[in-house]
This record gives sequence, C-alpha cells and structure tokens, in this order.
Amino acid sequence: MTESLTKLDLLGMTQEQIGALLVELGEKPYRAKQVMKWIHHRFIDDFDSMTDISLNLRQQLSEKTEIHEPEIISEQISTDGTRKWLMRARSGSAVETVFIPEGNRGTLCVSSQVGCALDCKFCSTGKQGFNSNLTAGEIVGQVRIARRVLEEAYPDRKRAVTNVVLMGMGEPLLNFDNVIAAVSIMMDDLGYGISKRKVTISTAGVVPAIRKLKGTTDASLAISLHAPNDELRDKLVPINKKYKIAELLQACKEYAQGLGDKRTITVEYTLMDNVNDQQEHAIELAVLLKDFPCKLNLIPFNPFPGSGFKRPSNIAVKAFRERMVKAGYNVTVRTTRGDDINAACGQLVGEVEDKTRRQEQYRLIQTGVA
Ligand code: SAH
Repeated sequence: MTESLTKLDLLGMTQEQIGALLVELGEKPYRAKQVMKWIHHRFIDDFDSMTDISLNLRQQLSEKTEIHEPEIISEQISTDGTRKWLMRARSGSAVETVFIPEGNRGTLCVSSQVGCALDCKFCSTGKQGFNSNLTAGEIVGQVRIARRVLEEAYPDRKRAVTNVVLMGMGEPLLNFDNVIAAVSIMMDDLGYGISKRKVTISTAGVVPAIRKLKGTTDASLAISLHAPNDELRDKLVPINKKYKIAELLQACKEYAQGLGDKRTITVEYTLMDNVNDQQEHAIELAVLLKDFPCKLNLIPFNPFPGSGFKRPSNIAVKAFRERMVKAGYNVTVRTTRGDDINAACGQLVGEVEDKTRRQEQYRLIQTGVA
C-alpha cells in the first residue's frame, strides 16, 4: 500500500508529462505515444502486456509507476439507459459518475472532488462540505471506466462517451492542476480523443481560476449563474459574495474571446419555485446577458430531502424558457434523467469514509494553510 502511494500514476499524466518522464529514464519522448495507447485505448494496466516497449523500459516503468484506476463499488442502470457508478478514490471516499445517453450522443458527467467547499444552497454535494480533491488519474479514470464498460456492453458502439462535462461532485476550478491535466488527456487523440467543444468545465464562479484558464486549456466553459442579480446570487451561490456577477461574466468573455473560434459559454440556471423562476427574473436575465456570448441551459431543480427548495411547475419552466427565447437566446431545458437511480444534477452524494477530514480541511482553510 505505502509502496503504491509513492509510485507515479501514469493514468493521470499528460502525453507531455509521460514524455518528460521517459527522457529522465533515458528514452525518447515519443515513446509516450505507445504508452498512452496501451493505457487509454487498450485499457491495459500491467506493463508486461505492453509488447512494443522494450523489456528494460517496461521494468523501469513497473518499478517507478503504476496505472491505478478507481475501484468500481457499484453500477446502477436506469430504465432510460442512464448509468451511475460509485467509485472509490484513494482517500477512501467514494464519488459518483453518470452516463447519460441521448440519441447518438453520450454525455459523461464526471466528479472532480469528494464533497465541495462552495456550499451552494440548493446542491446536495454542497451540504456535505469539502472532503478531498480527486487526483488527475481519478478524474480521467472515470472516463476510462465508462468507455470500457460501454465498449463491452455495446460492441457496435451504439452507446459511447462522446461528451464529458465536469458537472458531477465538486468545484473543478478548486482542483485546478488535476482537472487541467485530466481534461488534456480527455482531448488528446492518444487519450480519449474528445473534441475541445465537447469537454466542458463547469464552475460556480471562481474568477481568478477562470482567468488562469486562458492559455492553459481550450476546453469549453459553463458557469452556474442561477440568479440575474447579485443580491439573489449572494444567497444561492455564496462565492458570489467574493466575485460578483459583472466580474464573472467579464472573465468568461475574455476566456471565450481568447479561444478565437466563436465559442460560447454555457450559462446554467437552476429554476427554483418562487425563488428565481418568475417572469421578472427572466426579463432581468435577458438584459444581463445581452452582450454575453452564451447559450442558456435551464435546469428545473432536482429535489433531495431537506433541501428547502421546490421544483417549479412545468408551466413556470415553459414560461421562463419562452421569455428567453423571445429575447433571442439559444435555450435548452435539461430533462431529468436517471430519476429511478437518483442520478440527476445536485443529487450526487458519493460516500465519505473519513468524516474527520472535512473538519480538518475546513480548519486549514480558515487558518489560511490550504
Ligand atoms: N461546481 C460546479 C459543478 C456543479 S454540478 C458548478 O457549480 O458549476 C452542475 C450544475 O448542477 C451546477 O450548475 C449546479 O449549480 C447545478 N445543481 C446543483 N444542485 C442542483 C439541484 N438540486 N437541482 C438542479 N441543479 C442543481
């Protein structure tokens, strides 16, 4: 166990990082391509099977590195084809990953942290508090597992992961380096070959980290807005007290412009009954986003016990949507999937093994250590 913790996990290393490691081991960096293919295309975990790599290198790799996929604790399959996996992270805690098939598309909703520190008032992960960051390997590992399981279940590729959204548990931008490495592997042809438009990082609005994205990645970005003004957003998404809406939208705009390919930002807006779902909110939102390059994704609130919020009526959702469409926005309403297996947004809870860590982390954050 201790030995394995000191080994580098190749699963979470980018092609560049593996290349640099191979140079250290006296090899040519391009051999990283072979190693990546074994790991991500052929799902191989043991070095002995990597037959196009010299025996000497295989030996060195097995001494210094490992390929460590998270363990699958359970898999649930919904009647609508949605699948949810509970996976164990190294910290001992478990996180959830959800696969949502929709026609030719298959979206994998990936977690980036165990728990979350941001405490958005309507999110069940937020209620748990923060527990730990996932490693890059644990984030990529979720994609690897889903790809492999689906390839086995559907050899005709009828269902496959075509899109990845970092909308599972956690705030991706508070686990910046691991998320950036993981996303790079997802988009690399020698990794999972998913196009940059189809890998989306979703954030509650960690503005300094959004600014850091520029030049670091070219993945797509989604923001969890949920309110058309600061007064209401302060209450729903507490990080808004630190970084206001105007600052958040400006940082996103600069990121989108920096990509230079007419990319839009996805604005997520969870509709909660009598909180942010009225016509006046829609009108205010339409004005707020007037010059913002976006598509709007409305999410009717998914209830969980003790949340204190209610899902709006279908009539209210439709009226909100129509108002935004009339104002010229590209609007989608996220349908609830995997209802029978609690796989909807905001319902993912995972399973925390070490509850003392949460308090400890919290103290470290309070004292400015973390
Ligand atoms: N931390 C990231 C990812 C969160 S989950 C972020 O904030 O963007 C993805 C989306 O689901 C977010 O927009 C989140 O605010 C929303 N969400 C959380 N709980 C929800 C719930 N109970 N019902 C509907 N949407 C919810």
